[in-house]
Amino acid sequence: MKTYRGSCHCGAVAYEAEIDFAAEGTGKCNCTSCWKRRWWGVKVRPEQFRILKGAEQLVRYPANGPSVSGGPGGFCKTCGVTPFQQALVTEWNHGVTVSINVATLDDLEPAELLAAKVQYFNGRDNAWWTPPQESRHL
Ligand SMILES: [Zn+2]
Ligand SMILES: [Zn+2]
Repeated sequence: MKTYRGSCHCGAVAYEAEIDFAAEGTGKCNCTSCWKRRWWGVKVRPEQFRILKGAEQLVRYPANGPSVSGGPGGFCKTCGVTPFQQALVTEWNHGVTVSINVATLDDLEPAELLAAKVQYFNGRDNAWWTPPQESRHL
């Protein structure tokens, strides 16, 4: 477990999170939302996550989901980057989790990211718990 700092591209939004890449691994999904944003995420619990600045810069999309109302998440209205998104995923039995866009972690070494296991989700076919047949493009 290590504390990382992250930010959007313009720097208006900053956060920190305690992440254990070896234990948690990362996730990629082929649904249109994840694919179009090239989302590569790592999940943390809300208590492992703090917004340092810029919460008011974030625009939620879609407006009423999938983020929990009142929870953090969205894209920066200045630079368009989504640094993190809070989600309530009941299937995971995890309750509320924050999915962090690994590309926005400023002090993550590529080697640490590459050492973490990647889990692939077939969101496009609504078969989240079966890995998609093709995942190399994700
Ligand atoms: Zn920004
Ligand atoms: Zn997805």
